[in-house]
Amino acid sequence: MDHTPHLYVERRAAQRPACPLLSLIVPVYNEAEVLDLFLAETGSALAGQTVAVEYVFVDDGSRDASADLIGARLAAGLPGRLVGLSRNFGKEAAMTAGLQHARGDIVVVLDADLQDPPALVPQMIDAWRAGYDVVYGLRVDRSSDTAMKRGTASLFYRLFNRLAHIDMPANAGDFRLMDRRVVEALLSLPERNRFMKGLFAWVGFPSVAIPYERPPRRAGAGKWNYWKLWNFALDGFTGFTTVPLRMWLYGGALAAALALAYAAFLIVRVLAYGIDVPGYASTMTAILFFAGVQLLSIGMIGEYVARLFTEAKQRPVFLVQDVIEGAPAAEVGHT
Ligand code: UDP
Ligand code: MG
Repeated sequence: MDHTPHLYVERRAAQRPACPLLSLIVPVYNEAEVLDLFLAETGSALAGQTVAVEYVFVDDGSRDASADLIGARLAAGLPGRLVGLSRNFGKEAAMTAGLQHARGDIVVVLDADLQDPPALVPQMIDAWRAGYDVVYGLRVDRSSDTAMKRGTASLFYRLFNRLAHIDMPANAGDFRLMDRRVVEALLSLPERNRFMKGLFAWVGFPSVAIPYERPPRRAGAGKWNYWKLWNFALDGFTGFTTVPLRMWLYGGALAAALALAYAAFLIVRVLAYGIDVPGYASTMTAILFFAGVQLLSIGMIGEYVARLFTEAKQRPVFLVQDVIEGAPAAEVGHT
């Protein structure tokens, strides 16, 4: 997983501040049931670390008590802030909002539902101190997911890496630690359609994986379904590769070549044996097949045109309705 020359890593390690500010970025969508548990676990996971900590909660248009609860904890002295989005924009947008509002030398993105174990964060910080700019969690055991989800996910990663020519580690989620310079790199990417896993991989920088077992969600309900996942995968593909568009060049060329060969064969046959009427089956087959291919390729072009459309509109990725500041970042152990 780690292909970084040691020179770079060692030079980075020498530049690390002794007590960095760590921003915990937490996208929150209807997580009131689990938030206190989340705070308790991150608190105890980070106790004893030489870092100052701030929480950056992004309320992605929750309709439950999540925002009130976070507001109350911030008022009671929890360090960090709550970024309230104007409606539900989805996790990708929420993470982008969190990155924008984080001030840390290092940031860690983690889910509120404790599926990204906070107990791993100290290990991530150690790897960062050793000089890595990106430390990502690698799910070794996805047994909490269904076989169907595992299968489709693995197919997606294989196809994506083959087509997009960037190395997106399979089974790496959004759970990761990033150095400030990686955050700046991500924020400098202008695209509106934010497929974060792809963007994370695209920016590069010295990276290392930490394997972990992904536990089931602690409380509340997951928000994914297969239709959403399929659209998510489509966004990923169209955002990172144009192979599906170019594929039709070869498909079309092959079809045309075959059609020409068949035409030549027909001409020769007519010249040799005279006109022969039957041929309904082959005509129908050709018409139906090529009509299908044309629709498919137009649809595929449509996917990219749709992306151009979203990018051309230049709409912001999310809208913030309020930022509520809590206590200033505090060194753990001193709170
Ligand atoms: N989330 C979000 N906006 C959404 C959906 C989810 O901010 O529209 C947050 C959610 O609160 C959680 C994280 O993203 O912190 C992961 O969501 P979930 O557990 O539903 O996804 P899964 O673990 O099934 O991938
Ligand atoms: Mg979850």
